[in-house]
Amino acid sequence: MKKVALVFVLAVFLPSLVLAWLAVRSLRDQQFVLERQQSLLYQSLADSVAKEAASLLAEHQREFARQVEAMLGENKATEVADSFDRRLRRDWRLADVGFAVSLDGQVYSPNVFDGTEAWRFRLENEKFLCSRESVQVYWNSPKGPINLSLADDPKAQNDAASGAQLPAANNPTLSGGAGKLSKDQKLLRNVEPQQVQQAMDNQAYSKVAPSEAEFRQLIGDSTEGTVARFLQNKLNLMFWYRSPRDPQLVFGALINLPHLAEALQRVVKIDTALLSDEICVALLDDHARPRAQTTLFETDWKHPFVATEIGEALPHWEVAVYLLNPARLSQSARTLKLTLGLLIAVLVLAIGVGGWLIVADLNRQLTLARQKTDFVSNVSHELKTPLTSIRMFSELLADGRVLEKEKQRSYLNIITAETARLTRLINNVLDFSRLERGEKKYNFAKCDLAGVVQETVETYRPHLEANGFKLECAPPESPLSVNGDRDALAQIVVNLLSNAEKYSNDRKEVRVETRRQSQPLPHVEVRVLDRGFGVPQGCEEKIFEQFYRAHDSLSSGIQGSGLGLTLARQIARAHGGDVVCQPREGGGSCFTLRLPAAPISTTN
Ligand code: ADP
Repeated sequence: MKKVALVFVLAVFLPSLVLAWLAVRSLRDQQFVLERQQSLLYQSLADSVAKEAASLLAEHQREFARQVEAMLGENKATEVADSFDRRLRRDWRLADVGFAVSLDGQVYSPNVFDGTEAWRFRLENEKFLCSRESVQVYWNSPKGPINLSLADDPKAQNDAASGAQLPAANNPTLSGGAGKLSKDQKLLRNVEPQQVQQAMDNQAYSKVAPSEAEFRQLIGDSTEGTVARFLQNKLNLMFWYRSPRDPQLVFGALINLPHLAEALQRVVKIDTALLSDEICVALLDDHARPRAQTTLFETDWKHPFVATEIGEALPHWEVAVYLLNPARLSQSARTLKLTLGLLIAVLVLAIGVGGWLIVADLNRQLTLARQKTDFVSNVSHELKTPLTSIRMFSELLADGRVLEKEKQRSYLNIITAETARLTRLINNVLDFSRLERGEKKYNFAKCDLAGVVQETVETYRPHLEANGFKLECAPPESPLSVNGDRDALAQIVVNLLSNAEKYSNDRKEVRVETRRQSQPLPHVEVRVLDRGFGVPQGCEEKIFEQFYRAHDSLSSGIQGSGLGLTLARQIARAHGGDVVCQPREGGGSCFTLRLPAAPISTTN
């Protein structure tokens, strides 16, 4: 048994405790896991909105190139360059200022006398655009290199105007194979590598790292791009474009940021309706001010849940995601933790209880197996003892060696008693097996329980008195009517009397009482009381289990099968009653058979 318990603890209980401990440990990280899952989800949303914003910017950039090509039309490039600022501002609402510079540092547009904005633009940007100073810029030039051979090809010009893709500017292999280069460009090629490489390295580490460069350097041999720089803490975003018709001229526009932000509003959206109850997506400018947002909502805009930068074209502008109810995350983490915790507790409890039940059942089965073995040896012994006496006394009588009448009667009495004992034992065993198989049949009929008890006691009296017992049986004043099987009820009384005899010591007193009781329901009782050893404490219920013996044959020397009380109780229960055991005041035990009283017949 101990071995089974040990195996269970080692094979089932300990591993499940370890698993539960691991599960509880993993619960501690639930909030982190949830946050991580949500941040991954929202990060991908922010990324896609930022990507859309970047492609919208690229779209505007292409539109700018188209504007320039449209203005150039059949006109001479330098003429267009002279009036570029005025015409661009008139035709394109995203432009604050339009500029046209040549690569050798001549500014065509804007004219300083065309208003304060033009004047300020020249003041702030002229040196940079003319490549006379290096400044900190964020730049990108997605298209290039320019193919100078296209300058005279009208079809190629059209392609350029419609935004047809050219090979990547930053790809050195493609740049290298780009055909003829102008003298200036060759010169640029010679001075560029370290600085351009540095700028490209910066880009690799941070998408929006600024780098120090001259305008000509960052133009390189590309056809178009963006340049952003901060002047007095204010972002200046410029688009620039070189037409294949006159690559020496660079046309550009200082972008009106409020108008651009307005245009970007349409990409700031949440596609999934479910998410719009949980988050707000906002477009933040370089001062972390919301320029567009999906939900009207106020928060500390500087601390988004996740954010993605738009890129070099709009440095420090971000698409940010905010949780509308930040407490919900910890709430759901708490709920999840609680649910999983409860689940683990229930599982461990179930394993514990299940294990305990299995061990208890195993224990019961082992005890039963042991009791069955004891039963076989007990029954064999019980059969052998009366058989020996019967054989011995009947041989003596048969041989005619006992002549005294008194002795002959005594021997015959012994033979009768032993035969009765054998019959009782065999009846018990047979009845038990019938009950076990569910084959036991009762002949229910209305009968007087007091009469049945009286008859049984009187049959048993000679045997008890012959063994020195004082037997009292007080008959009730009136019959005790029950609905039952007379023989089965008599068997209960015989078993109880037989036990009273077996488990008595020096005080050989047996008393049988029959009475009517009205509480809690009308019923009748038969009590068999003795002054014997008494039932050991704690065994009052166990003695009714099959094969259970509180007084072991080996230690007490009292023979028995452990079936008498089991049968008594089963028969009583089949009659709607029960047999119970109580200690008797003054020593000994009291066994009570209770049966429901039969309804009194009202026949006249
Ligand atoms: P058994 O054949 O062993 O007597 P029973 O089912 O009749 O089987 O009784 C079960 C056990 O109950 C007995 O082994 C004994 O220990 C205990 N018992 C029964 N009757 C008495 C009694 N009158 N006094 C003390 N113990 C009793």
